[in-house]
Amino acid sequence: MSEEVTGRPCPLCEEGMVRRHCKYVCPRHGVVYDCADTFW
Ligand SMILES: [Zn+2]
Repeated sequence: MSEEVTGRPCPLCEEGMVRRHCKYVCPRHGVVYDCADTFW
């Protein structure tokens, strides 16, 4: 599928986030970053 573990920790809980399409998803918090965010 199009999910991959990025190794980036969630800034809120430090859980490893998964990249789904262009969103970074925390298993606890849901979408944390989105490709629409410009701070990358
Ligand atoms: Zn989190």
